[in-house]
Amino acid sequence: MSHPCLSCGACCAYFRIAFHWSETDPALGGTVPAELTEKLDPHRVVMRGTQSKTPRCVALVGEIGKAAHCGIHPIKPSVCREVEPSWEFGRHSPQCDKGRIAHGLRPLTPEDWAGVDGAGQA
Ligand code: SF4
Ligand code: SF4
Repeated sequence: MSHPCLSCGACCAYFRIAFHWSETDPALGGTVPAELTEKLDPHRVVMRGTQSKTPRCVALVGEIGKAAHCGIHPIKPSVCREVEPSWEFGRHSPQCDKGRIAHGLRPLTPEDWAGVDGAGQA
């Protein structure tokens, strides 16, 4: 069974994805492509597309709720890595549930992880 995030993508089209600008500076160890971001304030940038009233991160590929994935997964911002899918690690995730409900998807349950390859690995 495939990872539930791969048929979702809802949180990437719900929250403003803001993080410190240094994550876009290779000289400081940053990995996020600067051209995919825009300035929020003197300290922070946001992923393009996520400041909108109908947010959708520019790096999200595919159709929400059907087949979606992060186009920069290995180098995505720290805030994205911190979002836990509900019940992957045995606990509820308010961010995951909020994103899914906003897109008309039901919150994940522990049963959604039965048989998922790699579930529970950080
Ligand atoms: S809303 Fe939850 S299930 Fe959907 S992509 Fe985000 S973390 Fe994964
Ligand atoms: S960078 Fe990737 S994980 Fe983060 S919001 Fe955009 S598509 Fe989602």
